[in-house]
Amino acid sequence: MKNTIYAAVIAACVLVAVVIFVVRRGGSGGVNDIPDTQMLWVKCTKCGQGYEMGERQYYRELEEKSKANPSPMPVAMPLTCQKCSKDGVVRAYKCERCSEVFRAGSVQGDFEDRCPKCKNSATEAKRKARMGQQ
Ligand SMILES: [Zn+2]
Ligand SMILES: [Zn+2]
Repeated sequence: MKNTIYAAVIAACVLVAVVIFVVRRGGSGGVNDIPDTQMLWVKCTKCGQGYEMGERQYYRELEEKSKANPSPMPVAMPLTCQKCSKDGVVRAYKCERCSEVFRAGSVQGDFEDRCPKCKNSATEAKRKARMGQQ
């Protein structure tokens, strides 16, 4: 009887692992699925400058960085800055309202894209718009 329970638990674990694997692959789609034209904002924590770069290039560089710096925890390594050549570039957002470029998650415990200057958040705005339509 005990063995049957163990077998069921193991089977459930395997199933969960497979589902997570499939969902992750299907969800992210891989770097090559990102169109060349898709841009994202980054900001350098060393020199404070923000600029736009190709999203595909961003993920490629991120991958190279994590390969060069193996870590037991999956941490997002800062990329090399195109302006000051230091490793300080992180994911950022450009505020639609006040054009401030700020690093993702500047306002802790809030939306990633919450502007620290004018408190606008594109994600929140989209959610509100969606709620308004219903
Ligand atoms: Zn820099
Ligand atoms: Zn703003």
